[in-house]
Amino acid sequence: MTVEEIKENIIKLRGELPCGVKLVAVSKFHPMEALMAAYDAGQRLFGESRAQEIGPKHTAMPKDVQWHFIGHLQSNKVRQIVPYVSLVHSIDSLKLLRCVDDEARRIGRTVDVLLQLHVAREATKYGFTIDECRDLVDSGAADALTNVCIRGVMGMATNTDDEAEIRREFREIRHTFDSLKSSHFASNDRFDTVSMGMSDDYRIAVEEGSTMVRIGTSIFGAREY
Ligand SMILES: *Cc1c(COP(=O)(O)O)cnc(C)c1O
Repeated sequence: MTVEEIKENIIKLRGELPCGVKLVAVSKFHPMEALMAAYDAGQRLFGESRAQEIGPKHTAMPKDVQWHFIGHLQSNKVRQIVPYVSLVHSIDSLKLLRCVDDEARRIGRTVDVLLQLHVAREATKYGFTIDECRDLVDSGAADALTNVCIRGVMGMATNTDDEAEIRREFREIRHTFDSLKSSHFASNDRFDTVSMGMSDDYRIAVEEGSTMVRIGTSIFGAREY
């Protein structure tokens, strides 16, 4: 994509998304010029999925950018990202949640996080099952953590042409959020985020109650790995 096309894509998406839905521009593997084009179109939320890309991109981009980590996070990479991220979408174990909390405390920050749910049929996607997620929240183990704030849930649908299946999975994610909200986070205004929807399925995700979409290809074009 050219710089002009990236700007147009951002403006078009922003026009299309309802006002309660935040747009995360997924910039993994894309060069700084592409990110700056999105920035110049007003984009301030960027998502990365490789720990080693966040620090350098944070250094190179203007300081009012917010960085989200959206990829699978290994405990030994937590230290690389915690100084820079405002939201980690991909918490998939209590161990990882504690690890982010420890590191955030060590450097004197608080980091917002989402619990990643596994609802897709693919065996390869990370995340809690709905039961595991509910057990974690019910156990109260997360309540004592002082330097992470659980803001909601994140999930991905199966990569399929079956729209009914995608819709069913997004509905399950939204339903889990609503149920956790009413059982545990009812008086917590900060539990407010349902991160779901990518380039191929964000319209369905928004219809099913997404509050945050993560879009890469439809903004920046295909990635070259
Ligand atoms: C890469 C990625 C995206 C963006 O995917 P596109 O299809 O390019 O929009 C969204 N979410 C996660 C977790 C990703 O890894």
